[in-house]
Order: sequence, then structure tokens, then C-alpha cells
Amino acid sequence: KKINIAVDGFSSCGKSTIAKGLAKELGYTYIDSGAMYRAVALFAYRNGWMTDTTIDEAALQKHISEIVISFETAPTGQQETYLNGENVEREIRSLEIGNGASRVSTLGFVRKELVRQQQAMGKKKGVVMDGRDIGTVVFPDAELKIFLTASPEVRARRRFEELQAKGTPVSYEETLANVIERDERDTTRSESPLRKAPDAIELDNSNVTITEQLQWAMDMFNK
Ligand code: C5P
Repeated sequence: KKINIAVDGFSSCGKSTIAKGLAKELGYTYIDSGAMYRAVALFAYRNGWMTDTTIDEAALQKHISEIVISFETAPTGQQETYLNGENVEREIRSLEIGNGASRVSTLGFVRKELVRQQQAMGKKKGVVMDGRDIGTVVFPDAELKIFLTASPEVRARRRFEELQAKGTPVSYEETLANVIERDERDTTRSESPLRKAPDAIELDNSNVTITEQLQWAMDMFNK
């Protein structure tokens, strides 16, 4: 019998690595809920309803139901994000869109719409979804909930190396500031702030390899 698995935690905690690994191991579908917030931010930027400092909430709210987000597996095996049928995978991974996602994610009507879409994706079970509110709001009944943590410095280092590999011009200090800023916003927003669900199991992976984490998660699954 298939179950849904929630993987929550702070930014750049390695949630997607463990969630993708579990999905692969179990033959489940991986869903990156953060990509959905990123797609909303991209939609808002493109339509001129968002700048680096402002959001036209009324306009975004009016058009929120026009946003259809889907995922498809590329020939490489990577999941790619589609916004109204267009592949936006590369565009949504910038720091700018990451910040925009963090900002639109504070809006109740955005969360409501995305949670609705996420719950529909989990209807048939067999989903591993990562995010901030999966165990608390999206799948409160998930049979397995994992909450990942790691120090801000470790997370900034990982994110920095990822961005460097992609050729994004950014410094470690900037990346660390960005991680701290997003933690602050994620934990203090009034709409579904980032919290560990009471029944989630926590793992601090600051000093744990990916192989060890995946083994640990599979052990939790098989318990
Ligand atoms: O995980 P990722 O960095 O791609 O998420 C982008 C932003 O979307 C996060 O900073 C967070 O504020 C928001 N988010 C959220 N709830 C989720 C997933 C992401 O609020 N379930």
C-alpha cells in the first residue's frame, strides 16, 4: 500500500536530495512544492505585478487561478517544472525568483491555491513532497514525515557551491545572508509558518552524508 511522505525543513537543507532519493527507491512521484511558489513568483514578475520591492497583491489575486503548474520528467530523469505548459525549470532557480517565491509565499491566497493543487497531486498516494508546510498543512495525515535541519553556515555553503556550479555570480556572504533572510521570513510569517509537525521525525544533516541520510529515511519508512 502506497503512502504519502512529507519532507520539510529550512531552505537549502537538502530536502530535495532526500525526497528524490526516497521517490526513486520506492517508485513514488517526487513533487517539489517550492518550485510551485517559484512559478507563482515568475508569473507575477513577468506580468509586472512584482518587482524586487513591491507586489501588486490585488492583481495577483485576481489572476491566481490562471496559474497551472505541472511537472514532467526530462530524458535525463530530472523533474522539470512547467508553468501553463511552458518549461520554466531553469528560470525559476535564480536567487531573484527564490526571493520572490519567499515573498509570495507569505500571501494567504497564494498558499490556499497551491495547497489545493498539491493536495490534488497527493490524492492517489505514492507522493514524496518536499517544502515547508507539507507535514503540517498539505498532508497532515502523511504516514511518514521527515523534518530536516542543518546549520545556516552549512546550508549556505551547499547552496553557494550549487550556484557556483551553475555559474551564478554570487558570493558566499550573500548566499548566507539570503539563507538567513529566508529562514526569518519562513518562520515568522502568519500564514503557515515553518514548523516541525508534532509527529515528524527530525534529522540534523550538518554532518551526515547523502547515502547515510537516505539509509536513515528508508529505515524510517520500513519501521
Ligand atoms: O524550497 P524552495 O527554496 O524552492 O522554496 C522557495 C520558497 O517558497 C521558500 O523560501 C519558501 O518561502 C516558499 N515555500 C513555502 N512553502 C512550501 C515550499 C516553499 O512557503 N511548501
